Amino acid sequence: MQKRALIVGLGIAGMSAAIGLRRAGWTPVIVERAPGRRTGGYFINLMPDGMEAAAGLGLDHLHTRSPEAGSTWSLNRRGHRRPAPGWLDLPGHPTAMVRGDVEAALWHRIRPGGDDGIEVRFGTSPLEITERDSAVEVLLNDASTGRRSRETFDLVIGADGLRSTVRRLVFGPHERFMTTWNAMICAFPLPGQAPSFGAQDSLISARAGRAVWVFGLADRPPTALLTYCTKDIDAQFTGDRTERLRTVFGDMDHPAVRHVLDALPTTPDYLFDSVHQVKMERWSSGRVMLAGDAAWCLNLFSGMGTTAALRGGAELGRALEEHPDSLGAALATWEARLRPFITTHQRMARLKHQWFVPTNRFLGGVRTLAMHLAVNARRAATEERLLQAAAPVRGPADRAVAE
Ligand SMILES: Cc1cc2nc3c(=O)[nH]c(=O)nc-3n(C[C@H](O)[C@H](O)[C@H](O)COP(=O)(O)OP(=O)(O)OC[C@H]3O[C@@H](n4cnc5c(N)ncnc54)[C@H](O)[C@@H]3O)c2cc1C
Repeated sequence: MQKRALIVGLGIAGMSAAIGLRRAGWTPVIVERAPGRRTGGYFINLMPDGMEAAAGLGLDHLHTRSPEAGSTWSLNRRGHRRPAPGWLDLPGHPTAMVRGDVEAALWHRIRPGGDDGIEVRFGTSPLEITERDSAVEVLLNDASTGRRSRETFDLVIGADGLRSTVRRLVFGPHERFMTTWNAMICAFPLPGQAPSFGAQDSLISARAGRAVWVFGLADRPPTALLTYCTKDIDAQFTGDRTERLRTVFGDMDHPAVRHVLDALPTTPDYLFDSVHQVKMERWSSGRVMLAGDAAWCLNLFSGMGTTAALRGGAELGRALEEHPDSLGAALATWEARLRPFITTHQRMARLKHQWFVPTNRFLGGVRTLAMHLAVNARRAATEERLLQAAAPVRGPADRAVAE
């Protein structure tokens, strides 16, 4: 008989895990708290190993949006712009998209009638998770009907994000695992590019403790990210969100920043949240495991959460195929393969954080200097390439003269 797994959460981690499970011969069932599938979302870039993991999961319909034209500009205090290295200039040349593009490609595979055709129940969440000898019993709540039901599964996967219910029910309270970064973000799509910039340009306006980013994309308006440092996280969730952001960023008096702040009240699709990482000694306990942000949230500054979620699903399938008769061995193998990657990127996120938003003036200065050096190095490399391309090709006669 096929083994059944309950996956909590229809995000990138949940859908990737479903594909992995299906490959290993399991029957996954996904429950999602929201009443329907979400679309849209914020800018995401995928590093080459993320693109590889996407291909490995069979995501043939992944729509990508890396700008073909356009530049990245740093906006200074006096309102001037300067060329700057952008997110897509990172080593490895990431590929740009929005979160909804990855989710749409995963959904294309798992949707009923798709290649992996997986059962998905919307409006449904776990209320209790109890591990028995050879199965896990879950009390599920269907919010649309108010109906509660108990079902048993061979494995439960919490892929329900940063504030995971599965983690809280089985592993312990959020505070035990969520580290605080004293930072806030607000990410949302813009209705159009900021005035006087090219449609696919990206913009950065960074001061000590605050930054505004606009990410240019190939075939849709850009998305915006506001991020700032604060020690009082709780206070950020009180009062009006737009007013709060206007207070934090209001004195960054550049037309592009005003354009971003003016777009904020009109957008229905935004994420306003505090920044954390999730750190756990083990990602599984018996027949319950966590995946994606629920298990290891790298956070947005790492730029690797999607890659990790895709890899997590692919690696889970591989480990279950290798250990068909021992769930314990499969989960231990899965974790041993992923752990070094996650630890590295959790550490690197601290460094990348400074690039997104320098946390003090000194680090802001270091960041500005590093950006100048990077732009100059890039300019020199381009000039070198142009000179080489323009140099006449030497034939045998030239060589003879030279000798
Ligand atoms: C602003 C921002 C920018 C980012 N940029 C990048 C980037 O450039 N590159 C990159 O690789 N990564 C990036 N990331 C990280 C990346 O988006 C995530 O790591 C990735 O989407 C994995 O998410 P997940 O599936 O684990 O969780 P989520 O996306 O949070 O999905 C969890 C799902 O579970 C559902 N759920 C929650 N609770 C319950 C419940 N009790 N019952 C049922 N369902 C539930 C939710 O509704 C949701 O559908 C960024 C993140 C942010 C916030």
